[in-house]
Formats: sequence, structure tokens, C-alpha cells
Amino acid sequence: MRQSRLFAQTYREAPAEAEAVSHRLLLRAGFIRQLAAGVYAFLPLGRRVLRKLEGIVREEMDRADAQELLMPAMQPAELWRESGRYSAYGPELMRLSDRHDREFALGPTHEEVVTALAREEIHSYRKLPVTVYQIQTKFRDERRPRFGLMRGREFLMKDAYSFDIDLEGLDQSYRAMYAAYERIFARSGLNVRAVEADAGTIGGEGGTHEFVALADIGEDTIVSCSHCGYAANLEKADAGVSEVAGTKTGQSAPMPERLYTPNVRTIEELANFLDVPPSGLLKTLIYEADGEIVAVLVRGDREVNEAKLQAFLRVAELAIADADAVARTTGAPIGFVGPIGLNVPIFADREIVEGDGWIAGANERDYHVRGVKPGRDFFVEATGDFRKAAEGERCMRCGEGTYRFHKGIEVGHVFKLGTKYSERLNATYLDGEGRKRLLVMGCYGIGVSRMLAAAVEQNYDEAGIVWPMSIAPFRVHIVPVSMQDDAQRELAESLYERFLSAGIDALIDDRDERAGVKFKDSDLIGVPIRIVVGKQAGQGVVEMKLRDGSGNAEVTAEEAYAAVLDRIWKQERANEFL
Ligand code: ATP
Ligand code: MG
Repeated sequence: MRQSRLFAQTYREAPAEAEAVSHRLLLRAGFIRQLAAGVYAFLPLGRRVLRKLEGIVREEMDRADAQELLMPAMQPAELWRESGRYSAYGPELMRLSDRHDREFALGPTHEEVVTALAREEIHSYRKLPVTVYQIQTKFRDERRPRFGLMRGREFLMKDAYSFDIDLEGLDQSYRAMYAAYERIFARSGLNVRAVEADAGTIGGEGGTHEFVALADIGEDTIVSCSHCGYAANLEKADAGVSEVAGTKTGQSAPMPERLYTPNVRTIEELANFLDVPPSGLLKTLIYEADGEIVAVLVRGDREVNEAKLQAFLRVAELAIADADAVARTTGAPIGFVGPIGLNVPIFADREIVEGDGWIAGANERDYHVRGVKPGRDFFVEATGDFRKAAEGERCMRCGEGTYRFHKGIEVGHVFKLGTKYSERLNATYLDGEGRKRLLVMGCYGIGVSRMLAAAVEQNYDEAGIVWPMSIAPFRVHIVPVSMQDDAQRELAESLYERFLSAGIDALIDDRDERAGVKFKDSDLIGVPIRIVVGKQAGQGVVEMKLRDGSGNAEVTAEEAYAAVLDRIWKQERANEFL
């Protein structure tokens, strides 16, 4: 492509509201433009990257025997009512009605549509297993669209759905997709980790992993063990091994002792006031779980993990109770709540029942109690792992390593659905004995446009984007220093023609611009190989420069051409061995 004709322009500055590096660079380099909050146009450069990503995804899906189809974005509301999600999905679902007042949703995902299709197409076990996929625009009215492509309201997703006769079959389909995902992310040049994830209330038969691109801007926190292979999303991560001693910092006493603690409400205030570490305090939180009031106890220095608690309680809605509900339940204002004498079910984190001599709220304004003993002073409904894992604690799985935290961007998700949707939409098949059975399903998503942003978050420097070769908008950038110079122009043009004939996507900066401008733009756009045609063009010599800083050499045009072919060939070969 000729840069003189390139549709988009580059900018020196990004709009102030663009916080994420990827958002700033993609705007500045002319890859994307915002049309509305979370709604973006892909300009030619951006579209090219997207197509390369799509190409990799498509190849690996096909390799895994998934069949591509294309489902509509516009989905009848009836289907969503059948699955029960028309209301459950909430305001994130974009809704519209046609001229006959028929209601529709713009698909945020396609479980309903694909299950409805499967119930028509699949009747016998002989057709199973089968996996289908599409690469398609999704709509989600996100509460906080942000970071450009990272969290859009209209975005490109690859979504796949598997259908099996039973759970063993699902296991295999799941593993095949998992393996395909590892190849996809490796080929795209992304540093991605698969982590155990929270299955939410949808649950299914368990088993869900997220693929997380490590990056500081990421909204997800992942926990990994420094010793064993354990890695999980923080929402899901098992709490580490407790150092029970740490919970005994309060003094044991034959009876809880009342303490006057005027206006001391927070854990921090209380720890300071009594001069004890927060780990000796007992934190009592009042929740509303599907309308029922419950109390949850964790150590003062811990945080409740609501995802785990919700899964344990098997409730659809879990929310911290407001001040009124707390006062009604405990007779005390927030800050003075404790487990003794409470009339509601108490769920205690494991650490609480393992410890003793706690300091807790007295359920009376301005008072706490010291020397509280679980099982003597209060009884718990159940004990479990209800807290967030903490950085640096000992791994629950191997007991050897310690937990490390990393920030990341969820780029893919594999999920065992089981029969949730086939049950609700009545999608069945006949088994070998002629019995009707529910289709067993899995679903597998990749945020293709989010991947583009994640790739930039992992590959940039102060001058601009540094595209991995496999997804770069162009692989070679030919930059004649002066288009006025006949020798330079002719050599640059002839190289450009040769690359095109060899099927190599090249960009030529044929603009009548100053060299400095051209180099700045070239750095910003981030094409992996640059060939600068300058003063030595007369002798057939050019400068070849790798955008990632790993190489820089003066070579003949002939050598440059051969080297580019060689690099590209090597990269393509490398994929075969992944
Ligand atoms: P998140 O927790 O980030 O909202 P999700 O759990 O809602 O993600 P899924 O429903 O599993 O995401 O969708 C599959 C994939 O689609 C995700 O792994 C992610 O890469 C991508 N994705 C989800 N929401 C968005 C969005 N608003 N913008 C861009 N990509 C998205
Ligand atoms: Mg979401």
C-alpha cells in the first residue's frame, strides 16, 4: 500500500481521555477512531491487523475441526425468554423493536441462537460430537466502556460452541479448544496464561479457564504459585495456607470482655486504638443473599471473596446489606457488628474457626468485645473458603510456593456449559438405544478486537507500536528518504514491486515528507521490518532496521530482499512446530 494514499492520518498527541497505552497508540497511529463511547471504526491499518488475527483464529479453529458459520446479531427476544436470560442479562443487553413492535436483542453472545439451531439440525448421536464457531460483532451495553478496544460496547468476538453426547465427550471438546487457544495466542505473539476461573452461578459441571494476557493495565488479577503450576483468577483462587498463630493475637479469656471503643469503626481505627494487628480482629459483614440476611466472618486483614461466597450459597444475587438492614439485624450501626447473639445464619471463613481470642464488634454502639471463641460464644452455619487469596501467602495446592499476583487482560474464555441451555431450549438427540437425551454443551470465546489492544499493551516503546510479525498490518515498510531523488525513488519502487509480486505485504512511504516525519510515523505505526532507501541508493545499498531494536544493518537491496523473505519464511515455519 502507498502511504500517500493511506486513508488515515497520524497524530502527534492522543486525546487526553485515552488512558491506556494501546488506546493512545492505536488512535495516534490511525488504526481506530471512536464513533461513540465503546464504539470504534477500524481504519485500514486496524482492519488489516484484525484480519490477520481473524486468520490465525480461523486456521486454528479449522485445525481443531470446528466448523465456521455465521449467526445473526439480531436475535428474537422470544429465544432469550426461553433461556430465561431476557431479564437476567440486565441492562447490558441491547434491546430494540421492529416496525411491528416485535422485540429483539443485539447478541452479546450466541448460546440461545446456536442451541435453537442445534435442536433443529442435530437429532442423533451419530452427528455428535460437533463444534461450530463464528467470528462476529457482539453488542454489550457495558456499564463502563473503557480503554478503547479493551472494553467496547460493539466488539469482535470469536465464539465457538461444542455439542456432545455426555460429559466425557465435553471434556474432549473442551481440551481441543483449550489447545487451539494456546496455539492462537502463541502465534499472535501474545504472552498469555491460562488460569482457572470462577464459573459464576451458571456453574454447569465445573471447569472453566480464562486466557489472560499479562499487562499492567489489565482489569483482572491472577494468582500464580511460585512453585507448582497453579494459576487462577483472583475471583476463583483458593485462599492460601493460614498461619493460625496470626489469628491468636487477641487474648484468650474465659469470657468475652467488653471494651469501650467510642467512635472506633473501621478495622484500621480499631487496630490502632487497641494496638493489635488487624489479623487479630474479626470482621463481620452482613449480606443479603437472594433476599435472606446472612453474616459473613473473615479476619480483619482479609477481604471477602463474593464470587466464592455466592457459589457456596448457591444464590443468584448477593449484595452487602445497607445500614438500615444492618441496624435491624444487629441492633448496632456499621462498625460495631459482631457474631455474638446474632439471629441470622453465620458463615465463617476457615481462618476464623481455626483461631481463637478474637476481637469483634459487640452489636452495641461504641463497644467491641475481646477474647471471642468460635463454637463457645457463637455458632456457625457453615465454614469454608470465603476470602480472597493474598499475595505472598503459601500455596494451598502444593504448600511449598507462595502466591504471586499479576495484572492481566482476559482475551479468551473456555467454559463447560453442560445442559443448561439444551434443557431450557429443549435441544435433544436420540442415543444408540433410541432414548431422548439433552445435548451437552461447551462455549468458547475469544475477544478478537480486545486481542488487538492486548497485543499493543505487550508490544510498544516510547516511539510507538512494535507489532509482532504475525499480526502486523504490513510486514515491511519501505521508506525512501527523499522522493525527489530519482535513484532513491526508483530503488524503493522496485523493491516495493518485488515484495508485492512475492506476496509480501509491504507499505511504501511515497509521501513528499521530511525524513524525520517519515521515521516518526514509521516508528509509531510499528511495522516490524523497515528498509530505508537513502543516500547510498545509487550504489544499491539500503539500511535494514528491525522495529524491535534487535537488528540494524547496511545491506544491498538484494540482500535486504532475501533477508525479509528468510525472516518471513522462518516465522511461518515456526508456527508449524507450535
Ligand atoms: P469481562 O469479564 O472482561 O467482561 P466476559 O467474561 O464478560 O469478559 P465473555 O462473555 O466470556 O467475557 O466473552 C468472551 C470474550 O470476549 C472475553 O474473553 C473477552 O476477550 C471478550 N470480551 C468480553 N467483553 C468485551 C468487551 N466489552 N469488549 C471487548 N471484548 C470483550
Ligand atoms: Mg463482561
